[in-house]
Amino acid sequence: MNDLQRKIKKRIREARRILVTSHVRPDGDAIGSSLALTLALMEAGKQVQVVLADGLPAGFRHLPGSELVKKRAEGEFDLIICVDCSDLKRVGLALDGYRPPDIVIDHHATNDAFGTLNLIDPEAVATASVLTRYMRGWGLIINEPIAVNLMAGIVTDSIGFRTSNTNSEALRQAAELLDLGVNMSKLYYLSLVRQTFPAAKYWGVGLSSLQLTDGIAWTSLTLTDRKAAGYSGDDDADLINVLSSIEEAEIAVVFVEQNKNKTKVSWRALKPGIDVSQIACQFGGGGHKAAAGAEITGSLQEVRERVLEATRGSLKG
Ligand code: AMP
Ligand code: MN
Ligand code: MN
Repeated sequence: MNDLQRKIKKRIREARRILVTSHVRPDGDAIGSSLALTLALMEAGKQVQVVLADGLPAGFRHLPGSELVKKRAEGEFDLIICVDCSDLKRVGLALDGYRPPDIVIDHHATNDAFGTLNLIDPEAVATASVLTRYMRGWGLIINEPIAVNLMAGIVTDSIGFRTSNTNSEALRQAAELLDLGVNMSKLYYLSLVRQTFPAAKYWGVGLSSLQLTDGIAWTSLTLTDRKAAGYSGDDDADLINVLSSIEEAEIAVVFVEQNKNKTKVSWRALKPGIDVSQIACQFGGGGHKAAAGAEITGSLQEVRERVLEATRGSLKG
């Protein structure tokens, strides 16, 4: 066990009241990792609060422990752990009034090491994979409900073992978690395949104005589109993953209007050797080589022009 692992183990052993948190707009890895760690810490007799600034999206209610998620922390903590989050800003209001995390566990290459102890493995397919690797070493158990959450993180971040960073460790871990009782086909369906009818209608709106220019497949979703489809989220309903199947494109981009002066952008690199996290970083966002995002100040049209230019530039460079 290296020095960092020893320090993390000691902090966990000595803590009584623990806060577990992750990023705003939580995805399957943010939620699965938070819940896996929370349940394991509770099994170890700790008092744990799991706090996500945006709460739990409805699509993740099937995960064991999901009812524990709160939007704000209460009281004091001897240990604050943040998972799957690359910088303090992306924690949102979950740590409002609290110190920065004591421990950061993550897999984003763009992580700025904002914790006191930082366990960051950019090779890992998901933060849940990092947790699966180390949790037992920290004296924590992995039982079936914990395994379901870890598998949810691994399966969603790798989009069902399809991303280019899918490695043998992730597949070995998946096999191990399966042996602990995870129902893989059910989890795969619930966390990757299933979509609501309004989400499918919303995809339809985005797909109807799909463009392919200079190797970039892109489309926009406006507030009006969202309303027309009856979609209740403020995201792209994973439309970016649909665009990622377009063989003529090198990069896929989706723009989602948030309000008159804010636009959410998602990038996916569709060919090896392209790093979209560098483009996202130019706009104050972050992510991985193959998948990155940013929330950018500016109207949909303004942001679209700036982002498409920078994205084109990155393909030429
Ligand atoms: P998304 O396009 O939102 O699915 O995000 C793709 C990847 O980029 C994920 O790994 C996110 O954690 C990361 N990401 C998305 N938005 C941001 C942001 N505003 N700041 C930093 N990283 C982000
Ligand atoms: Mn995430
Ligand atoms: Mn992740």
